[in-house]
Amino acid sequence: MFVSDSTGSSRRPRICSRDDASILHADLDSFYASVEQRDHPRLRGQPVLVGGGVVLAASYEAKARGVRTPMNLGQALRLCPEAIVVPPRMSAYAEASKAVFAVFADTTPIVEGISIDEAFLDVGGLRRIRGEPRAIAETLRAQVRAQVGLPISVGIARTKFLAKVASAVAKPDGLRLVEPDRELDFLHPLPVERLWGVGKVTAATLHENGITRVGQLAELGEPYLRALLGPAAARHLFALSMARDPRRVETGVRRRSIGAQRALGRHHRDPAELAAFVDGLTDRLGRRLRAANRVCRTVILRLRFDDFTRATRSHTLIEATDANTEIRHAARLLLDTAGPIIAERGITLIGLSLTNLENADAVQLTLPLEPRADNTLDATLDDLRRRFGSAAVTRAALLKSGEGLSVPLLPD
Ligand SMILES: [Mg+2]
Repeated sequence: MFVSDSTGSSRRPRICSRDDASILHADLDSFYASVEQRDHPRLRGQPVLVGGGVVLAASYEAKARGVRTPMNLGQALRLCPEAIVVPPRMSAYAEASKAVFAVFADTTPIVEGISIDEAFLDVGGLRRIRGEPRAIAETLRAQVRAQVGLPISVGIARTKFLAKVASAVAKPDGLRLVEPDRELDFLHPLPVERLWGVGKVTAATLHENGITRVGQLAELGEPYLRALLGPAAARHLFALSMARDPRRVETGVRRRSIGAQRALGRHHRDPAELAAFVDGLTDRLGRRLRAANRVCRTVILRLRFDDFTRATRSHTLIEATDANTEIRHAARLLLDTAGPIIAERGITLIGLSLTNLENADAVQLTLPLEPRADNTLDATLDDLRRRFGSAAVTRAALLKSGEGLSVPLLPD
């Protein structure tokens, strides 16, 4: 379960790189499949696939046969015909996740949840009360096993990146500590797929050029990789190959929100027209968000009425995003709920703010570097606008009115 609070990112713990290996990455093994094996003894030791049309989780017995997730069920059954397929039981997984996060919270006050089944834990300050990181990790693994009945792997390192790689290497049901003076020895023999951001496409490009191990990336150097993968991926992967966490150091205070608004004058506006304005604002803000390499969790709709009164409506997303589709969806929901008050009071200004901003890099720990399918459109439009100016692409519904003039923001 994501460790979240209503105020979002600002109070979420940030775990930073340090000199000693005291960042834990704890990750349940084949989470859904393990819960099924725990609850149904007949599934233990068997290849288990959880899912319907798509395999959401596969037990290690199935993974040993080449099943990966997500994978089409038909394809998985061709690889592993004797697999037992079970439907997912989300409430059981949510409950197990909660219990595991209770063990995390018991281990250290500094827990950064990454997803339903993994988290970073900072145990740097606990030496005097709880011992060395390795001992703390062993206790954590034993507690999750005893209290929740699930196997969990833990990586320990100086950086989040290495801790995450270490937990993956430790699987299944293992513990791996990367000593600070052995980081490159640990990293360089690994296949390039172990690095964050190396998905199928990048891996294929690297393989075509004879690059299969992390050590080769380090040896070839950034300029060579740039020619192969482009500047962003080259910088990212070269830094990783040298065991450097590529996320930029935060300098100074960054903006907590961005916003845009549009004055409407005193005309009657029908809902479709207002929806088009909201979409236009979404496009503008999404672009700024992505250009700043940030993601947002909260979308706020701001309204001013004929009588100069104001109202705001806000919606907090489960996960931070920079995708137009998700922001637009939230903004449209807010507009819909404000429909009655708009009809009653008349609207003269509409604004949208994105808050609970976080650095995209921090979130992209869990996301592939390759564009996500639903974000490809955003990236393409951003690129067109960068090259041909912001008027190059406009929503059809806004062609008549344009995207409106930028006016100063309403105070937050
Ligand atoms: Mg996991």
